[in-house]
Amino acid sequence: MLQAKKWPALDCFRLVAAIAVAAIHTSPLQSLSPQADTWLCRVLARLAVPFFFMITGYFLAQKGWRGTGRFLKRTAFLYGAAVLLYLPLNWYAGGFGFAEGAQKLLLTGTFYHLWYLPAVLLGVPLARLLCRPGLRIGLPVAAALYLVGLAGDSWYGIAAGLPWLKAPLDAVLWLGGGYTRNGLFFAPLFILLGAAARPVKARWAVPGLVAALAAMSGEAALLRGVGSPKHDSMYLLLPVCAVCLFGLLLGQNRGRRQRAAQTAGLVYILHPWCIVLVRGAAKALRCTPLLVENSLVHFAAVTALSLAVSAALAALQPRRPDPTARAWRQIDLTALVHNAALLKRQLARGCGLMAVVKADGYGHGAAGVARALQKQGVRHFAVASLAEGVALRKRGVRGEILVLGYTPPWEAPVLARWRISQTLVSEEYALALAATGCKLHAHLALDSGMHRLGLPTGDTAAALRVFDLPGLKIRGVFSHLCVADSLQPADVQYTLGQAKNFYSAVERLRAAGRDPGLVHLQASYGVLNLPPQPCGLARVGIALYGAYSENAPVQRRLELWPALALKARVAQVRTLLSGESAGYGLAFTAARPTRLAVVSIGYADGLPRDLADRGGQVLVRGRRVPVVGRLCMDQLLADVTEVEGAAADDQVTLIGRDGAEEIRAEELAEVCGTITNELLAGLSSRLGLVYQGG
Ligand SMILES: *Cc1c(COP(=O)(O)O)cnc(C)c1O
Repeated sequence: MLQAKKWPALDCFRLVAAIAVAAIHTSPLQSLSPQADTWLCRVLARLAVPFFFMITGYFLAQKGWRGTGRFLKRTAFLYGAAVLLYLPLNWYAGGFGFAEGAQKLLLTGTFYHLWYLPAVLLGVPLARLLCRPGLRIGLPVAAALYLVGLAGDSWYGIAAGLPWLKAPLDAVLWLGGGYTRNGLFFAPLFILLGAAARPVKARWAVPGLVAALAAMSGEAALLRGVGSPKHDSMYLLLPVCAVCLFGLLLGQNRGRRQRAAQTAGLVYILHPWCIVLVRGAAKALRCTPLLVENSLVHFAAVTALSLAVSAALAALQPRRPDPTARAWRQIDLTALVHNAALLKRQLARGCGLMAVVKADGYGHGAAGVARALQKQGVRHFAVASLAEGVALRKRGVRGEILVLGYTPPWEAPVLARWRISQTLVSEEYALALAATGCKLHAHLALDSGMHRLGLPTGDTAAALRVFDLPGLKIRGVFSHLCVADSLQPADVQYTLGQAKNFYSAVERLRAAGRDPGLVHLQASYGVLNLPPQPCGLARVGIALYGAYSENAPVQRRLELWPALALKARVAQVRTLLSGESAGYGLAFTAARPTRLAVVSIGYADGLPRDLADRGGQVLVRGRRVPVVGRLCMDQLLADVTEVEGAAADDQVTLIGRDGAEEIRAEELAEVCGTITNELLAGLSSRLGLVYQGG
């Protein structure tokens, strides 16, 4: 069977659902056939709102409910704006008192269609709470709540016939302002059904939907026949219909269509205003018989106006490129926070973390990383340059920011302006900085054996002279280890020697009455290979990001969680005949009929040009496949002959997990003949950056 073409079905159907809601409020078929209209508006169109709840639950659950707070804030803001927008109509309709107003605001909405927004604001946190112990518990509870709602809605006539049920039901209805259609009895079930939704093949979903709709129509007819339904928003079979519909759409869904989603939301909010405007215009133009009394024309006019206004408003929003459109870094802040806590536990009591976020946070985005760690109580950050430090300050990073590298003395006013601490790399340099007259914070670097930056640990006299310079406030003294990543006996001896040199120098400063402030020696491998040190800080970089430099043994192997995933999109999948070649230099020749995925990432993104020759692999649809040919600046080729269904827009994983497969940064770094520090720090800033968790 031919596969149905996939499209952004979920987002596009939002528009259909919004128009269905407008239909409920305009009764399009009323002047043609009241029965048909009842079925269309009171039965079929009732699927619209459950669909909206399901789509909310689906997308929130997809992100592990992590965006819930932000989503609720946005919804509350939208609700506030909608309340204001409809105030003139409330006022025109005679307004309402304080108690009634409060109830409307919190439960039934201040205008007839706005009940949906308070229902989301209550329903989402409730649904989240219910599914905390698992959907197996959450769903039945939500279903039980729905049954109560049902009894107060279309089943009221029957339910109220039971003497023991009528009084409590009436109390519930009284509290709900006459409705059970709200965030307590209606929304949670559909939000959780959305969270649990799975794609269903059209061959099952379509007959299922048709059968469920027929049954629900029967239910509606029956209820109208026997009981007197109070409302007609809820049916016993509505969840079944909604699940079939959603499963069908999910099975066809591919990607998002943000614009359609936005327009649908606006149509939902704005269409009652459009009804008022169409009626007003009809009156003014003396064409009420056509524009209002002909229900179909009325509906069409309202829908057209709603769509036009909504599309115009949606078009006013600035368009930003999606960071995941081409190739991107996906940063898991939860992992980062986990690593920070784990590393902190390895340190001596009272020793804190100095998070090293140089080189744009080893490719993880320095500001995003620093701000997430700041929230966890990290108060010290290290960068390589003044510009990196200033960029952090501008993005709201407080606490101490230390430049580990050299900053020319003429930049002293900038250091002072942004309260950034500078490493003193030599006595001459400290003199030059002090001579600028700027009041600066500094850390004194001591060279304990690496012979890179710092005053020799043996030269206490020089260190004392630096301490006594005016204008420089020395807040710390540190040294750097150069073979702490090695467990070779000679290297271990060298590291111990460095530590001894460093601590004796610090002791001599203390003995001479100088306060060294925060003392720090260990970087990541100092933490992994040395016992806890008598220090005030440890400067951790690579380990914080959940990576080892390489897969060499360490004293203490920690459960670090990788924070970065590197992903790219498939631009095209093409077929090569046996013997055909591809790419620059025709470096790849197909030995068999081959399907090649053209992946939108290349050496300008930080990968080596000879990745294929080195045996590089990527993950596509959960399978490992080889990179082939020569890397281009912006593209690479992967052999996806074995991957069923590989297609344009697929996500390709270069670092990270896809299904059961995982490529760790350590693996890719080894393939590239380097360490993860170089690989990650070398990732290009043109790669998109998305954060999740934290
Ligand atoms: C980069 C750097 C660090 C961090 O090193 P990792 O091995 O990534 O933890 C610490 N101290 C200094 C001086 C550095 O230059």
